[in-house]
Amino acid sequence: MHILLVRFSSMGDVVLTTATINWLHSLLGNDLTISFVTSQEFTSLLTNHPGVKTVIGFDRKNGEKWSDLIKKIEVVDDQNPVDLIIDLHATLRSLRLRFSFFMVPALTIDKRRWERFLLTKIRSVKLKKFFSVEPQVVRILKDLEAIFQDTRAVRRTEEFRKGPHGELTSLGGHVQQKLTRPYITLAPSASFTYKRWHIDSYMELVRELLAKTDNDIVILAGPADNFCEVFDTLKSDRVHNLQGKTSLIESMEYLKGAKLTVGNDSGLNHISEAYGVPCVTLFGPTDPRFGFAPHGRDSVTISRDLWCKPCSTTGSKDCYRDRHYCMEEIKVKEVLDASLLVLGRAL
Ligand code: SF4
Repeated sequence: MHILLVRFSSMGDVVLTTATINWLHSLLGNDLTISFVTSQEFTSLLTNHPGVKTVIGFDRKNGEKWSDLIKKIEVVDDQNPVDLIIDLHATLRSLRLRFSFFMVPALTIDKRRWERFLLTKIRSVKLKKFFSVEPQVVRILKDLEAIFQDTRAVRRTEEFRKGPHGELTSLGGHVQQKLTRPYITLAPSASFTYKRWHIDSYMELVRELLAKTDNDIVILAGPADNFCEVFDTLKSDRVHNLQGKTSLIESMEYLKGAKLTVGNDSGLNHISEAYGVPCVTLFGPTDPRFGFAPHGRDSVTISRDLWCKPCSTTGSKDCYRDRHYCMEEIKVKEVLDASLLVLGRAL
């Protein structure tokens, strides 16, 4: 059976779809071939994944046309006809792709948009508690269990959860170890400004971690995240500020070798977990109940219950309150204690 999975973005969501890859392989065994369509910038997440035969990138940012993407899929389809498309994105773009291959059966997952929208509208903290906090990966697997009507499937998901770290996701073999000393990775960036914990808090956390542990600190962030320059003022040879200096693959290598990742609700934390490295993840304007909280057994989620939170489904909106309460109320001591707890478990 040849299945075409579709998830264009974002980075964290593409990582989470690897749970689906693992699950499908456990269901269909050696008979399964998976091809994966994603945005070009995320192809390196999947190129070394043992469960994916072909990764098809769509380079829309550099002007690639939709017709070029369709041609690439047609080439793959000619070599080994696609039996099923599973749309893990469920947007107009992925719908268009399914439409282009309307002769191929297609399934789509339920992204619980209505639930997420409601959460942004309800102002009562008590009412919000009625919403499920089940991780998105578990929800998707439940959808697949229903679609494939495999009675052993629920048990199979539980078996994944019993892995060394309770992980459901996985990534390919980027193995090059970058540092000889043990280290913690810090992911202080995020796709939107209000999803970031304040840089002063990160600075204080780094000072505390340097004082209270033997670990080096590796800072990972993109070329545009210049606010990370402040870490250079620490002038410590145990702090490796790699903001803007690593490709996605190099960042993955650093994340894989870490003992812990501390960061905002962002893709780097999901990569970390896919390598079985626990995370401390800080949620600001987004909500763990959206289903994107870390799912690993040793990971910790830190999030405040506020009437205004979540204020959007993606964290993209500007804060409308007098202060950025959702992040300001997360104190350095709490993040430090959680980090030390996770490190203690990892020893
Ligand atoms: S404090 Fe409230 S309104 Fe402001 S960003 Fe956080 S969740 Fe949104």
